[in-house]
Amino acid sequence: MSIASPRPSPVTPTIDLSAKGVQHGHLRLPYSRDDSAWGSVMIPICVVASGEGPTALLTGANHGDEYEGPAALFELACTLDPATISGRVIILPALNYPAFRAGTRTSPIDKGNLNRSFPGRPDGSVTEKIADYVTRHLVPLADIVLDFHSGGKTLDFLPYAAAHELPDKAQEARCFAAVAAFSAPYSMKMLEIDAVGMLDTTVEEMGKVFVTTELGGAGTATARSTGIARRGAGNLLRHAGILAGAPETAPTRWLDMPSDDCFTFAQDDGLIVFQHDLGEAVRAGEVIARVHPVGKTGLAPAEYQAAMDGILAARHIPGLIKAGDCLCVLAALREAP
Ligand SMILES: [Zn+2]
Repeated sequence: MSIASPRPSPVTPTIDLSAKGVQHGHLRLPYSRDDSAWGSVMIPICVVASGEGPTALLTGANHGDEYEGPAALFELACTLDPATISGRVIILPALNYPAFRAGTRTSPIDKGNLNRSFPGRPDGSVTEKIADYVTRHLVPLADIVLDFHSGGKTLDFLPYAAAHELPDKAQEARCFAAVAAFSAPYSMKMLEIDAVGMLDTTVEEMGKVFVTTELGGAGTATARSTGIARRGAGNLLRHAGILAGAPETAPTRWLDMPSDDCFTFAQDDGLIVFQHDLGEAVRAGEVIARVHPVGKTGLAPAEYQAAMDGILAARHIPGLIKAGDCLCVLAALREAP
């Protein structure tokens, strides 16, 4: 019995990914629907290539309500001059394009969470088809992958670039060297709640250098967080040798997520009242937040205490919280790797 080879991807790029110069086009994904019988999802893509050198893949809006990546990458696609580069930069500012247009984390078409859909399927949902094309046709072209995230509408983060602990320590060191070059105000050794289905895991398992970020959130981007994204993307291209010159480094504080004690989840619905703001130090046992029942007055709030010493690295947005929501994330200060 033979295993059937995978189907070809239904995605067609409208540009030649191997051509030199600057190209702006789309990944066209057929999507037949009520208002367009033979319609398509058109995902914007830009490729800038010149001379010999490595390939960087830069992606934003893997989640559709996170804006630093799209802001930095739509801008970079307008400004990157092929005369200044050695190699190739593949830019997808809005990878989950249907979600990005809807301003939602997941796709309005199929409710697909792109960063839980990898490696994807060529015969799956729209979101799974995007993941499959990235896995089989874009990541193999890349030496280094930068995937921008922030907290979206339900979390707010300290601005950090991050990499993961990996079984291949040489690869892990290359990833953390790239995080250092990014030069966000914070640099994180990141622990995932659930790494299955993430672009991160797919790229790392292919042996590539992978950098992710959490650069703010609350459903918007600020001038500061967008500036961090812009500088970080340029720094990564310099670090890879695609742009000339040394990265424009800035001071960074290294953080670690040493265990599940980092995460606090709400056990009650209610009004959240934080006792600390992002970046502030907390001690184990200290109250981080109280959640007040809102159905009537006179009921005592639930108290949520820090399970470890650390600083507040992420918090729930907006003011009301539901049982099961991530209330906050703590991180521990660590030495630079
Ligand atoms: Zn995200």
